[in-house]
Amino acid sequence: MNGGSPRYNPLESMNRRFDAAVEVLGLDHQFANVLRVPDKVVMANIPVTMDNGNIKVFEAYRVVHSDHLGPSKGGIRYSMDVNLDEVKALAAWMTWKCAIVNIPYGGAKGGIKCDPRSMSKGELERLTRAYTVAMKDVFGPEQDIPAPDMGTGQQEMAWIVDEYSKIKGQNAWAVVTGKPIVLGGSLGRVEATGRGVMVSTRSALAKMGLKPTDANCAVQGFGNVGSISAKLIAQMGVKIVAISDISGGYFDSKGIDVDAAIAYVANSSSRSLEGFPCERKISNGELLELDVTVLVPAAMEDQITPENAHNIKAKLIVEGANGPTTAEADKILDDKGILVVPDILANAGGVTVSYFEWVQNRLGYYWTEERVNRRADRAMKMAFDNIYNASSKYGVNMRLAAYCVALEKVSAVLKLRGSF
Ligand code: GLU
Repeated sequence: MNGGSPRYNPLESMNRRFDAAVEVLGLDHQFANVLRVPDKVVMANIPVTMDNGNIKVFEAYRVVHSDHLGPSKGGIRYSMDVNLDEVKALAAWMTWKCAIVNIPYGGAKGGIKCDPRSMSKGELERLTRAYTVAMKDVFGPEQDIPAPDMGTGQQEMAWIVDEYSKIKGQNAWAVVTGKPIVLGGSLGRVEATGRGVMVSTRSALAKMGLKPTDANCAVQGFGNVGSISAKLIAQMGVKIVAISDISGGYFDSKGIDVDAAIAYVANSSSRSLEGFPCERKISNGELLELDVTVLVPAAMEDQITPENAHNIKAKLIVEGANGPTTAEADKILDDKGILVVPDILANAGGVTVSYFEWVQNRLGYYWTEERVNRRADRAMKMAFDNIYNASSKYGVNMRLAAYCVALEKVSAVLKLRGSF
């Protein structure tokens, strides 16, 4: 995976689609100018004492793109590829995503430039608590609500809720989502993004007149989103022929046992698929170009580019990751007649269940997993149908249609609220 390739800039990719949607909608440029840029950018340099006694300084961001529809919402990423443009793009995508699934949130994103895999639990805890202190005036249950993203999970969210609660002098469960269940988390949240990817895949296959049992699928990335997507898509009857992670790609024409792969990673010392038995080891690049019905890029940005888009053979791409396709590659995929369910729709199941978690925290009443899943599936199905219909209404691909639907909604709110 060529993460953080300097050749591509996710913010530029976001802006190009944004500008195209402004044109399609004939949107007043005054509103477009407000929404093209983030509301607020907070940067902090965070000193942390490492286990060896040395002090290391970490570059950290929180970007609030918009809070016009409600408190801003979005995950926190721990990765060496974190940079301001990436966080700005990810924050804007959260705004569009929340508008598309109809939840009352704006968009934000956080990021810390660090390599979580090489840090001890103690170092990660100190970094996460220090970040919470640095962002204490940004975060808030009615203000800005973080969640997990690449490199973070339930443990980091537990530290954030604990640190923030100490600062405020009271338990503030609703300040963050994606928490452990015993600490105010929601049933179904861990699986929610992958579940939404599955619902999007099911909806798209139905529109294409394809039966899941006649389809096969390759999934790039085997973190939370990739592994759960693969598992649930397999449960639909689709044969998963390839999966991949940082250790490379694993191909099996007879179908990969996804549950076995998940168990393999959980028990491996490297926490990766390294050594997982399969028919043939392939590269991440080869995985993207396999002759499959469905391709699910669920790793990171800038994976489908003008360099490889021509070679993609999948009939359907369902974007589990944020920004896996560069703006230049969109047209190539269109020309090849590939249906793309864009990131801001396909992976919106995660933030949808984050919203349910926040609602449950505020109610102090917790739902069954069945209720969470039923409501999340319904929200995803409605969003898919809405964007699919908007795509024919505007005569544009689903990605542009998704931007149009989101922009139309956020700009309408902007107009109603007015400004100085
Ligand atoms: N990080 C996830 C995303 O990109 C989830 C965000 C959230 O739940 O707030 O959608």
